[in-house]
Amino acid sequence: MKTKTLSTANFSRRSFLKSLGFGAATAIGLPAVMQNVSAAELPHIIVVGGGFAGATAAKYLQMWGGIGVQVTLIEPNENYVSPILSNLVLNGQKTIDSLTFGYQDHQNRGVRILHTSVSSIDKNNQTVALSNGQAFSYDRLILAPGIEFDFVAGHDENKVPHAWKAGVQTNLLKTQLDSLPAGGSFVLTIPAAPYRCPPGPYERACVVADQLNNVRGLGASVTVLDENPNFTVEAETFAAQFARYGIAYIPNARVTSVNSEAKSLTYSVNGGAEQMLSASVLNVIPNQKAGQIIFDAGLNSGNWAPVNPLNYESTLASNIYVIGDSQGTGQPKAGHIGNSEAKVCADAVLRSLSGLAPDPAPKTNSACYSPVSRTEATWLTAVYEFNASTGQMQLVSTENYPYASAPSTRNYGDMFNWAGNLFDDTFG
Ligand SMILES: Cc1cc2nc3c(=O)[nH]c(=O)nc-3n(C[C@H](O)[C@H](O)[C@H](O)COP(=O)(O)OP(=O)(O)OC[C@H]3O[C@@H](n4cnc5c(N)ncnc54)[C@H](O)[C@@H]3O)c2cc1C
Repeated sequence: MKTKTLSTANFSRRSFLKSLGFGAATAIGLPAVMQNVSAAELPHIIVVGGGFAGATAAKYLQMWGGIGVQVTLIEPNENYVSPILSNLVLNGQKTIDSLTFGYQDHQNRGVRILHTSVSSIDKNNQTVALSNGQAFSYDRLILAPGIEFDFVAGHDENKVPHAWKAGVQTNLLKTQLDSLPAGGSFVLTIPAAPYRCPPGPYERACVVADQLNNVRGLGASVTVLDENPNFTVEAETFAAQFARYGIAYIPNARVTSVNSEAKSLTYSVNGGAEQMLSASVLNVIPNQKAGQIIFDAGLNSGNWAPVNPLNYESTLASNIYVIGDSQGTGQPKAGHIGNSEAKVCADAVLRSLSGLAPDPAPKTNSACYSPVSRTEATWLTAVYEFNASTGQMQLVSTENYPYASAPSTRNYGDMFNWAGNLFDDTFG
């Protein structure tokens, strides 16, 4: 197979070869046949974004591709903070540190890690330009940049947090909640679907209501404005929890503007007259779309990236793949399924480098655990399979993949086992 040579302005091929261990082929015990293969001749797969989708793809490409591929993971941050379980930071059950992961295990496997971001993609010449001035060519490019927000007028995330990307935002919301006064109010807004983690906002409303009123006894009001016509998932479960906590739920409510200084917003229900609401703590989760690089590279159709669900290759550009929250297959935007898509994609990419077709019948799995208090959780899982007649991923009957009948302490314990396995499979 003909592969492109690396074209890097500042990054020498020698150091790249060394990073892959090819500078010391004998020492690391490569088979004799591989000792004559320079890294520059190997297929180069670049993965952009080190979240649940991208980190999994890079790990499995290197594990399954072994010494036959070069894998480069480009991620600006040295550490990744998991949004999964981050609502438990708000009630003190978790710390940001305990949800923070590095890329050392990837590096140990031979993945080249570059802590910078991709600023542009040249689809014709198959190169990416990095914000640090370097440029690389690729044989296959996997994009996993997560989500970008559509902020309404007046929304300053530094004053009115969304806390929908974890880390600084989560801490900001926690600080504001910690100083919420007795008799105060918490208002949370939910964007139109599809958004990252369907049950996540309902989970947050319950966790916060429990913390404010059952733990701290503040007698605070909790209001949820949902742009959707009803709870998007586990409707009966969350409706019962909202009733238990006395959470006011207003569906079909679209946020039209935010006053970040005054902690107030305007919204309209079913397109009716605008109304105003203010809060002691305002938590606005904006509408969402694919990561910015998808738009910059012209790989979007509407808000998301259209892909072939057999291999996640963009339908708008060959040799570019999109996985995780940015993909537009209709599958949920969640970390567990992003990890699942990454394996389907990694397998298909490695097959394609050998001239093989992708698996004709891929399946993926989604799972979300939702704490609803400091001791109970609920869960939801779903399996998707490729339907050859529609060319789409479709939900396998929910009969065998149900959701929890009710929140329980057992689910709460299981949640940490599930999350630990997912974290380890992605970053370990
Ligand atoms: C409160 C909450 C609870 C959740 N609970 C669950 C749950 O129970 N189960 C579940 O499955 N999911 C859950 N999720 C959803 C899950 O966190 C996301 O769906 C998942 O993180 C998406 O993974 P991703 O890899 O697509 O994107 P991300 O994890 O956002 O990773 C994207 C990465 O790409 C990088 N990046 C972006 N642009 C560039 C660029 N140009 N160059 C280089 N790098 C770039 C970013 O720095 C980032 O690290 C939850 C989310 C929240 C907010």
